[in-house]
Amino acid sequence: MPKTYVDIAFPTAVRRLFTYQISEDQTIMPGMRVWVPLRNEYAIGMAVQVHEHRPDFKTKPVEQVLDDEPIMNETMLQLTEWIHRFYYCSWGEAIQAALPVGLNFSSVKKLRVKKSNRDQLTKKEKELLEDLEAGDYTLQNARKRWRDGVEKKLLNKAIKSGWIEVWEQPRQRVDYKTAKHWKIPASIEPKEILEDLSEKGQSKKWEQAFEELTKLDLPKTHRDLLGDELFTPYTLKRIEEEGWIESVDLPVETNSQNIGVHDPELIKTLTEKQKNSFDAIREPLDERVFKSFLLYGVTGSGKTEVYIHALKHCLEQDRGGLVLVPEIALTPQTVQRFYQIFGDQIAVLHSRLSDRERFEAWQSLKSGDKRIAIGPRSAVFAPVQDVGLIVVDEEHDTSYKQFDPSPRYHARDVAVMRAHMENAVVVLGSATPGMVSVKAVMEKKHEMLQLPLRPTGTMPEVKILNLLEYKHAMKGSLTAELHLEIEEALERDEQVILLYNRRGYSSYLQCEDCGHIPQSPHSSTSLTYHKKKNILLCHYSGYSRRADTHCEKCGSDNMVSKGSGTQKVEEEMQDLFPDARLLRMDRDTTSGKFGHQKIYEKFLNGEADILIGTQLVAKGLDFPNVTVVGVVNADTELAFPSFRAGERMFQLLSQVAGRAGRAEKPGIVYVQTWKPDHPAIVSARTHDFKSFAKQELANREMLNFPPYSRMVVFQFKSKSISKIQTVSNRFCDAMRKVVGENVVMGPSPSVIEWMNGQFQWEANIKLKRTYNAHVIEELLNRIFDKYKSMKPKGASSVRINVDVDAVE
Ligand SMILES: [Zn+2]
Repeated sequence: MPKTYVDIAFPTAVRRLFTYQISEDQTIMPGMRVWVPLRNEYAIGMAVQVHEHRPDFKTKPVEQVLDDEPIMNETMLQLTEWIHRFYYCSWGEAIQAALPVGLNFSSVKKLRVKKSNRDQLTKKEKELLEDLEAGDYTLQNARKRWRDGVEKKLLNKAIKSGWIEVWEQPRQRVDYKTAKHWKIPASIEPKEILEDLSEKGQSKKWEQAFEELTKLDLPKTHRDLLGDELFTPYTLKRIEEEGWIESVDLPVETNSQNIGVHDPELIKTLTEKQKNSFDAIREPLDERVFKSFLLYGVTGSGKTEVYIHALKHCLEQDRGGLVLVPEIALTPQTVQRFYQIFGDQIAVLHSRLSDRERFEAWQSLKSGDKRIAIGPRSAVFAPVQDVGLIVVDEEHDTSYKQFDPSPRYHARDVAVMRAHMENAVVVLGSATPGMVSVKAVMEKKHEMLQLPLRPTGTMPEVKILNLLEYKHAMKGSLTAELHLEIEEALERDEQVILLYNRRGYSSYLQCEDCGHIPQSPHSSTSLTYHKKKNILLCHYSGYSRRADTHCEKCGSDNMVSKGSGTQKVEEEMQDLFPDARLLRMDRDTTSGKFGHQKIYEKFLNGEADILIGTQLVAKGLDFPNVTVVGVVNADTELAFPSFRAGERMFQLLSQVAGRAGRAEKPGIVYVQTWKPDHPAIVSARTHDFKSFAKQELANREMLNFPPYSRMVVFQFKSKSISKIQTVSNRFCDAMRKVVGENVVMGPSPSVIEWMNGQFQWEANIKLKRTYNAHVIEELLNRIFDKYKSMKPKGASSVRINVDVDAVE
């Protein structure tokens, strides 16, 4: 009996699979994509199971098989199925996340003119149809071209009355990446210009730059040119203003990245501590069994060297490797070190790749041409063949968690699961491991490896500046001491980094006299201040009270609301240090593709004296000339209404401390705070991760927060505040019926209650940490079934997202 049915996963929110019929001339295996009718349209789906169980409904046939062989192997199907259950998304959504564009489910809507009697059409209508016939229009293009007035109406009418048909077809083409190139316009005679210039005598810098340009083989990319110090965005713009050069967008060649020299001889001999770690990792590699390690080592302790030796060993066994790093740390500097040793065996998968580059990198790994993949979160799905080792560097980094869209997976946890499925070894590296991993070490799930010392140099000094003591000695937001240190560093031509935190979208109340921030009695997290209603709110438990007029700690009536937009640090610093050149790095200034890298290079080249930024500054940067690092107000991080606020604070301070003094000049980190006794601050000062972890875990255990439980957050979104209230309350009622009274917290408004025209509320449940994917799925199914049976009116206008192991 031939296998005649196939279960298909679609990248929609619907979690179930759909069964289709396979015709005799079709060969379909799990992992192959198909083109099938779905409702009134066609869609691409992934075959995940082939079987002979005739379903009790009429099945439709598979229209077309899109792949000759499976594009996903069994392990990746299994891994995406696990994500589907554990993170409660559809299997298709998980598959979509694991495949590059060109191989995933993307399709385009095309327009086809139907041959029908056109006699009764008006002249205008006929013209429209003729135009459409002449061009190869997608629905999107057509809507762009006929975008307003009468013509828009005509197009809609044509679609509605069926004169033209919207036809969906799989999109398998990937576009070339283009980049800005500079060239000299054909109308320009460079020789004449140069002659004029030389007559003038001394030439300006941009004029010299132009002379240099005439010697080059143009067009060249903007980015390539910036490698030469003569060419800056300013000089190029200045020359463009003269009309001597013009920019064009041209395709760039792939693999044009300059990532240094390949020289395997440059592999470093390991120190004794490093060798101990490597030996421990080698053992399960040799035995080809699953094992997970937490490699704990401060910044600069040489974790990368351990990774490199382990990867090399892996390649010698003829197996592949996978290295995950936070997106922000995936700089040319990071890649260079790996490239030096492994050369072309490396495929780098960063977010700046074009669809085509990503597609090619993916193919080169799948074919076994390249054996090692390096990339951010999504690289956990890279089709490295026969994976032996998976490294998750900076395992505590929050960018490993995908928030939107679904699947809301955590790449670190997916990496551990993948290693488990492939009998591979997984190494989680960090200087400040997350509490989840620390707890896993305590439970003997991970083995801990330690690199306690920096091979060269020592840890920088961390100085705590108590804002209470400096109350009457402030220069703007700076204590007199930090102000003086900055001044002196600038005089010595050294650089300064100032860090402020702008998770500013939540407001909170703080006492100006003692620095106290009101806390929730239920979750020990900071209460959010809602100005309109004048209340303080706990966004975990929904607890609320009228905003305090007096400080509950010192009795002062000096309670001030703080939060978004109150920090104009950059302006203030320019006033305080008028001669200093400032550079700002935050989400706003790094939005461009190379934004982060550009600011990094500028500061490294000494083009600015003070770098001001959010936590972005703390990640993956090395500046030898920085001697003063200041944290303007550590309390803004602690004020963030999350049970992880302390952990974040500690990680942030440790990372910042790791930045200062990595070169010959000693660096000092100054931390301004109202709470010098907070465990996160005390431990960061002494670089004592262990004592911090001990206290933090004790707190979490007391309140049953993760890692002692597993938190599932339900997010409600709607345009209507009344509907969101009704629905979220009803949903929580349903949850209480299923999981019990004490497990459910909420509903309450989210930290950001209003965003993109929608209200956001949330509720959460704390589940047992030991629940596996099947238990979680079953429980969530029961919750949603219960809710369905008691849905209130208007429920369909409220969207409910599920976020398992949410990271806020
Ligand atoms: Zn007070």
